[in-house]
Amino acid sequence: MNTAAALRSLETVGAALACAREFGVPRLDTQLLLEDLLGRPRAWLLAHDDAPLDEPQQGRLLDWLVRCAAGEPLAYVRGRWTFAGLELQIDSRVLVPRPETEGLVDWGAEVIVSRAQGCRQPRVADLGTGSGAIALALKSRCPGACVVATDCSEDALLVARSNANRLGLSVEFRLGSWFAGLASGSASSSASSAADTFDVIVSNPPYIAAEDTHLAALRHEPRLALTPGGDGLSDLQHLVRHAPNHLQPGGWLLLEHGHDQADAVAAMLAAAGFVERSMRPDLAGLPRHSGGRWLPRS
Ligand code: GLN
Repeated sequence: MNTAAALRSLETVGAALACAREFGVPRLDTQLLLEDLLGRPRAWLLAHDDAPLDEPQQGRLLDWLVRCAAGEPLAYVRGRWTFAGLELQIDSRVLVPRPETEGLVDWGAEVIVSRAQGCRQPRVADLGTGSGAIALALKSRCPGACVVATDCSEDALLVARSNANRLGLSVEFRLGSWFAGLASGSASSSASSAADTFDVIVSNPPYIAAEDTHLAALRHEPRLALTPGGDGLSDLQHLVRHAPNHLQPGGWLLLEHGHDQADAVAAMLAAAGFVERSMRPDLAGLPRHSGGRWLPRS
C-alpha cells in the first residue's frame, strides 16, 4: 500500500485497525498505538469504530505502523513498556524487558524477604541492568533493600537512571562490566567498599548463541545485550565464576539463561561450589532461570 492510500484508510479508528491488519501489525498492537495516539482506553476504542483521526494523528499512526511492519519492537515505537507492573521508558539503547524475566524478579524478591529476617538491610546487585527493569522491580517490591545495578553501556544507564527518577525508586547505578561495575562505584564511596558483598546477585546477561537464527528477528535491539558470541555461555560462565567473591555467606546468585542452557548453567554452578542449586521454568514452561547459594567452606 502506498503512503497516500494508507493515509486515506486511516481516517477512523475502524479504518485504521483494518489498514494495520494489511500492514501485518497485530490488532492488539494497533489498539495500544491508538490508545497512545488518542489518549483513550481500549474499551473506548472498541465502542468508537467511527471516531475520526485528524491529519496529524494519521501521519503519526502511519509512521508507527511502518516501523512496526519493519519489525521494530512495539516497546520502541511506543517508547514505553510495562514490566512487573512498572511502566518503563524504553528505546533502542536497551533490550526490551521480556515477560519471562518477571520470574527472576519473583525469585529475587523471595530471597530478599528471606534474607531480610534479622533486621539487616538486604543488599542486591543487578548486573547488566539495561533499562533498569530487574533492579527497579526488586526495589519497588522490596523497598527496604539496598539495590545496586551495573551496566557497561553508558547509554543504557541513562535510560535506567531516568526510569528510576520517574518512578521515584532509589537504585544506585554504576558504570562497568559485570563485577567491575561494582568495584568502580565503591572506589568513589569508601564507606560502602567494605560492605560491597551482596545477599542476592541477579542477572539477565546476553546468552543467545552467535549462530542462533532468532538473532535475525532481534536486529533492532542492542546486539551487545543479546549475545556474547560463540555458544552464548561466556557471560553466564563469568558471572558464576566471580559471584562468590561478591556474595555474602548464604547469599544467592540468580541467572536467566536460554531454554537449552539449563544443564550447562547447572554444571557451572556445581563446579563453582554453589549449593541448593535449582532451576525455575518460565511462563512457557521452558527452563529459564537457575540459581544457587554460596556457603563458603569454613
Ligand atoms: N530472552 C531474550 C530473547 O531470547 C534474550 C535476552 C538475553 O539474551 N538476555 O529474546
